[in-house]
Amino acid sequence: MQIESKLPHVSTTIFTVMSQLAQQFNAINLGQGFPDFMMDKGLIDLAENAMKSGHNQYTHTNGLPALRNILAEKVEYLYNNTINPETQITITPGGTYAIYTALTAILHPGDEVIVFEPAYDSYTPNIILNGAKPIFIALQYPNYTIPWNEVANKINAKTRAIIINSPHNPTGAVLSNDDIQSLSKLVANTSIIIISDEVYEHLIFDDIPHQSLLRYPELFERSFIIFSFGKTYHCTGWKLGYCIAAKNLMEEFRKVHQFNCFSCDTPKQYALATYLAQKDKYVQLGNEIQEKRDYFRNLMQQTKFVCLPSHGSYFECYSYAAISHKTDVDFAVELAEKVGVVAIPVSAFYHNKTDKKVLRFCFAKKETTLLEAANRLKHL
Ligand code: PMP
Ligand code: GLN
Repeated sequence: MQIESKLPHVSTTIFTVMSQLAQQFNAINLGQGFPDFMMDKGLIDLAENAMKSGHNQYTHTNGLPALRNILAEKVEYLYNNTINPETQITITPGGTYAIYTALTAILHPGDEVIVFEPAYDSYTPNIILNGAKPIFIALQYPNYTIPWNEVANKINAKTRAIIINSPHNPTGAVLSNDDIQSLSKLVANTSIIIISDEVYEHLIFDDIPHQSLLRYPELFERSFIIFSFGKTYHCTGWKLGYCIAAKNLMEEFRKVHQFNCFSCDTPKQYALATYLAQKDKYVQLGNEIQEKRDYFRNLMQQTKFVCLPSHGSYFECYSYAAISHKTDVDFAVELAEKVGVVAIPVSAFYHNKTDKKVLRFCFAKKETTLLEAANRLKHL
C-alpha cells in the first residue's frame, strides 16, 4: 500500500540518529538531551507508593486536580500570576505533545507561524501537519538573538502564531525583558497567538531571571505556555508536562487533547502532586545545573573547541571551525566513530541545514562522563 506522505521531507529525528550512533560506537552520548545521573529516589518512591495504593486507573482528562492545584500555587509563587487550575492548566504526556496540541488547536490551512531557527525539531513538522506554513527567521549568530525588525517585516494578516523558546534549545540563549517588550509591541492589536516553550524554565544560569510569559498579563492572554516535568525532575522518560493558557484558549486545547490522549499517567501525577510541595527542588535546580555547565566549559578550554556561551537549558554550543572544515553532520559522525563522543550538529535545527560549524553538547551528565568526554576531545 502506498500513502501520500504528510511529511515527505521528514526522516528520523537527529536525536534518535545520534543516540543510535552512540550505541553503535559505544561513544559517550552528549547528544540527546537527557541526564545520565539518577533522578531523586524520593520521587520514585512516591510513584511506587501511588501504584501500590491503587492509583492505577484513568484520572481526570485535564490532569489530576491535586497536581493542577499545586501547579497553580507554584505559578503564583514564582510569577505572581493567579491562574485557575480548573480552567487554565492541562497535564499532558510531555511538552512536545503540548506544543503539538496547541498548534493543532489554533491552526487552519494557509495560516503562517513564525519560527526562529535554530529551532527544536518538532515545531516545523507540527505546523506542516496542520496545513499551515512555517515562516523562518534566523537567530543572529553567535549570540542567537532575535532580530525584531525582521519579525516586524514578516508579520502580516496570515500570521497566526509565533513560537518562542527561552531558555533556548539548542543554543542556551535566554530572552531578556527587552525582547519581551519588543514582542509585546509587535503583537498588540493583532490576533497573533504566542506558543511559549518554557520547558527549561528552571535551567537558567548566571542569576538571570526567567522571563516567563506568565509574568506579562497582556501577553499571557494570547499565549499557550508549555512546561515539562521531565526536564525539571530529571525524568525525561516519564513524558509528563503541562500547558497553561487563558480559559478560552485552553477550551480549544482540551478539545484536541481529549481525543488524542484523554488522560496521562495517573500514579506519576500523584507522585508529582506531593513532590511539588518541596520548592527548593526546583528553586535550586539552576545553580545545580550551572555547576555542570561551568565544569564542562572549563574542561572544554583544554580543547580547540570555541564556546558559544549558554545561559540556560541543558546545552552549550561549540564552534569546531579551528579543528575541521567538514560539514557539521560529517564532523559529528566522525567524532562518534573515531573519538567516541556524540554531539548534535546544529544544522539539524535549520530547515535549510545552515551549517556554521557548530555542535551542541548536553552537559546534564555526571562529572565523570563530562571529564572522559573532554579528555577524548582534547586530542583533536
Ligand atoms: N521543547 C524543547 C525546546 C525541548 O528541548 C524539549 C525536550 N525534548 C521539549 C520541548 C519537550 O519535552 P518533553 O516532551 O520531553 O516533555
Ligand atoms: N529535548 C531533547 C533534545 O533536544 C530530546 C528530545 C527528543 O529526543 N525528541 O535533545
